[in-house]
Amino acid sequence: MKKALILLAGGKGCRFDKTNKSIPKQFKKNNNYNLIEFFLKNLDPNIFNRIIIVIKNSDKKKYLKQLNKEFPMHNIKFVKSGNTRQQSSNNGVLSLQDFNPKKVLIHDSARPLTSNKLIKRILKNLDKNDSCSPYVINNDLIKASTKKNINYGLKIQHIQTPQGFIFKKILKAHKISKINSYKDDTTLISSIGVKTKLIKGEKINFKITYKEDYDIFKNLIQNEFRHGIGYDIHKLNFRSKKMLKLCGVKIKYFPLIGHSDADAGFHAICDSILGALSMRDIGYYFNDKNIKWKNANSSIFMKYCKKQLDNKRYKIVNLDLNFICEKPKIYSYINKMKNNISKLLDLNKKCISIKATTNEKIGFIGKGEGIAAESIIQIRSE
Ligand code: ZN
Repeated sequence: MKKALILLAGGKGCRFDKTNKSIPKQFKKNNNYNLIEFFLKNLDPNIFNRIIIVIKNSDKKKYLKQLNKEFPMHNIKFVKSGNTRQQSSNNGVLSLQDFNPKKVLIHDSARPLTSNKLIKRILKNLDKNDSCSPYVINNDLIKASTKKNINYGLKIQHIQTPQGFIFKKILKAHKISKINSYKDDTTLISSIGVKTKLIKGEKINFKITYKEDYDIFKNLIQNEFRHGIGYDIHKLNFRSKKMLKLCGVKIKYFPLIGHSDADAGFHAICDSILGALSMRDIGYYFNDKNIKWKNANSSIFMKYCKKQLDNKRYKIVNLDLNFICEKPKIYSYINKMKNNISKLLDLNKKCISIKATTNEKIGFIGKGEGIAAESIIQIRSE
């Protein structure tokens, strides 16, 4: 049985941006995806045999040129939008005549969070109904602007999309309709006497109308978390008169031996950041054979890693650093270390943890020959 989806993307979003100068909301990118791409990315490719995107030609060229390359599994075709929602919907429905699907869903591109589950439920309901749409109930108290006609017991049903139809029926409704200002296709189809079965929708399937809605959407999908681990160890130089440096803090103790300043703390942190970004390790970017990094201040490496986070639009959630050494006692330097890390990574001190442990006199660290540091980090997409 052939099934099609019509995605309406012809809107200008006047309520979203009153100046009408910025990009229409459905094409605004967030985390590399605009609303249409975001919806298609999450859409189960096994549901529909054809997807029609109803859109202005200029918008298609500007914003969705690569869409078929990005989503070849969806069999997408483009149809020109009209001046009103109904005209756009009409163009979409008429364009499917040759393809002649059994069922069709008509959806607003401003509802990118529709679940596959809801889509499948609507399609299933079309086995026994000619029209099926989801609704939600808002539990906020309803107050009318006039004192008359307040009914506190009234439950208002908010109709969502996608709205599902038996194709033949919605085609007929579009063909014979004399009015072209229906707000949605369920209203249109009721004009030819077809009743719509209403099923429970999803609150998360809300429509992005205003900027505030877009911010909610952004917050909801801002949840790509990644983790990284870093480990570093350096040998102590007992003959040197220089000082030890850990996380940029000078400590009255023997220094560590290394090509750069051998700051094991910073090196472990850098590796955890690069690890979280799937970017190999610090030695790959700052080779210890390269004279340029001889005695280099490791804060340079930290700044480099922070820049990579910024470029890829990630923020650090928290950082946990652990030193393993017999001597010196790290505790009294922790606050200064946190200050340095906080500045270099633009990270709240509350999100930084620094601990230290000994190796219980076991092995070379236990004998006090060197200092190791390990770091674990969590990052979040912006
Ligand atoms: Zn190192």
